[in-house]
Amino acid sequence: MVTGFKTIDAHNHLGVRHGASQTAAELVAKLDEAGVDQAVVFPFVEGDFDNEIIADAVRDHAGRLIPFCAVNPWHLDRAVAEVAARAQAGFRGVKLHPTLHGYHLSDEALVGPVLEAVREAGMVVICHGASDLYNAPPEFALVAGRFPETAFLMAHSGTFWSHEQAVELARQTPNLYLETSRVPVHEISYSVAELGPEKVIWGTDSPFVDYAFEFQKMERVAVDADSVALVRGGNLARLLNLSS
Ligand SMILES: [Zn+2]
Repeated sequence: MVTGFKTIDAHNHLGVRHGASQTAAELVAKLDEAGVDQAVVFPFVEGDFDNEIIADAVRDHAGRLIPFCAVNPWHLDRAVAEVAARAQAGFRGVKLHPTLHGYHLSDEALVGPVLEAVREAGMVVICHGASDLYNAPPEFALVAGRFPETAFLMAHSGTFWSHEQAVELARQTPNLYLETSRVPVHEISYSVAELGPEKVIWGTDSPFVDYAFEFQKMERVAVDADSVALVRGGNLARLLNLSS
């Protein structure tokens, strides 16, 4: 029996944008209600966004929130500088959204310098990874192959149309992980059965979910409790070098 793992939610947005908002206090209340220890946080990435709100949130909720910064590689110099500066300030990872910002994740000239800054800083990447053209599973396999020291989390596990391809590429790519936010139980069960629990990481994508349900759905994944513990926090704690 694996015990002592923290539960860590890998995917949460803070701030305000048209049609959605979530404050740090609102998120921490959801963590408390569900019994979740920690949560990775980054801004909404539509339109303009500011990583300073994440720095403020983490300061206000010490020990509960893990800061990631979002960047748009089309502002390339600014994005590279932002990754380096935020890493210095204690941010642990970077959020990318190729579909919203309009680039191929595997575009070496555009995204390569950002990922080089990520590698130098020892950060983790979480990237939107539904089955859209710009961030389809082969795009992840290409960048993960170019940056083998960096862990890449494919948010939404390539659902729906590319899920089996995502599993196949995660199997072939040691540093590619499938993140479970808004992924149905059937697909998560398949991921864990095919890859083992070490390659699957739990996230919610709050505020766009019924938070308690996203936590509880993992109980319905057809694997043992030890595997669920790894998926719901043990794996991410290891990638972020957090003590459990
Ligand atoms: Zn999201």
